[in-house]
Amino acid sequence: MSALALQIRSGVSNVKISVVSPVYNEYEVLPYLLDALPKALVKLTDHYEIILVDDGSTDGSDRVIRERAESDSRIKLVQFSRNFGQQAAITAGLDCVTGDIVVVMDCDMQDPPEMLGPMLDKIHQGYDVVSCRRVGRDGESLFKRWSSTAFYQVMRSGIDHRIPPEVGDFRMYTRRAVDGIRAFREQHRFMRGLVAWLGLKEAILPFHRPARAAGQTKYPLSKLIKLAWTAISSSSPLPLKASSYLGAAMLLSSVCAACLFLIGFFADWNATSSLAWVSFLLGLSGLQMTAIGLLGDYVGRVFEESKSRPLYVVSQVCNIEHSPEQPRALWLDTHDAQSAVRVEPRIYGPIVLPAAPRKAG
Ligand code: UDP
Ligand code: MG
Repeated sequence: MSALALQIRSGVSNVKISVVSPVYNEYEVLPYLLDALPKALVKLTDHYEIILVDDGSTDGSDRVIRERAESDSRIKLVQFSRNFGQQAAITAGLDCVTGDIVVVMDCDMQDPPEMLGPMLDKIHQGYDVVSCRRVGRDGESLFKRWSSTAFYQVMRSGIDHRIPPEVGDFRMYTRRAVDGIRAFREQHRFMRGLVAWLGLKEAILPFHRPARAAGQTKYPLSKLIKLAWTAISSSSPLPLKASSYLGAAMLLSSVCAACLFLIGFFADWNATSSLAWVSFLLGLSGLQMTAIGLLGDYVGRVFEESKSRPLYVVSQVCNIEHSPEQPRALWLDTHDAQSAVRVEPRIYGPIVLPAAPRKAG
């Protein structure tokens, strides 16, 4: 039995829980979270940390976090130089955690802190990942609910059947699950896909998702579409395959069209059929352009990946004492005025494998 399992079975008080929450222009809602979350955590453990990753907010969210962090060193801030996106913010938070058990949750109170108790029970039962499934949603438009259901259906039927439906990023992980996820350093990341790929023992807990405590969603339609496309293209080359199937179908229909043309030629059909030809050819080149576009998108992603740029850039911190030793993470030289600790800059680098042992003789 692992040391963690022993710690958990002997009671929760020794287990450190780390909460990671991405924050993007959430000035109004942060006070609700910073009141409710510590109250929920003290019921479960004496040791916890709340890592709020400010994903380039411009509304003063970092000020709210700093104020709280000044009086409570368990509240920590990691601040990005600009908006890198929710998935990058979660990655940075996971890179910093020091706890035995880790929770990822949104900061807008749509992921209720009361769920942490039941989630922890599941970890006690031996699960590595506990995911919360939304069985009801308040404050979301009909379109958002419909598109979310459609998204999960497409993902499960065509891309990865292991992705559970209606499960977002609200999850609790054991340390070893987090260590596993931290090993993935790809640029275009979809956390739900990575967790499914990892294949660890996962429990699903249903919950009713309340409306935001304050503020507006930070996911306009354009961002939702971008995330959905990242989810699909980072998990599967299926769209590329689909375009070759489409190409084959088009080839077949062009053979049929050629046959029709020959019949028409000999049967002396009148010239109106040329209009049909024009629309057919336009459709054909449209589909070809779409297929080339798809290919270009994948090539572009390979290009971005080959540059090996950092996944995020940290410009400021609060109550963080060490920059984690993770590849593809850029920590600028930050001075933590709060704890008077200089967090050393860390330049991302390639993963260095140990040298292979020399063969004897
Ligand atoms: N978020 C982020 N970066 C972004 C957009 C959102 O860190 O570019 C955070 C946001 O502050 C929140 C979480 O991601 O904690 C989910 O965002 P939101 O609540 O707007 O999404 P929704 O619940 O409406 O899908
Ligand atoms: Mg939300």
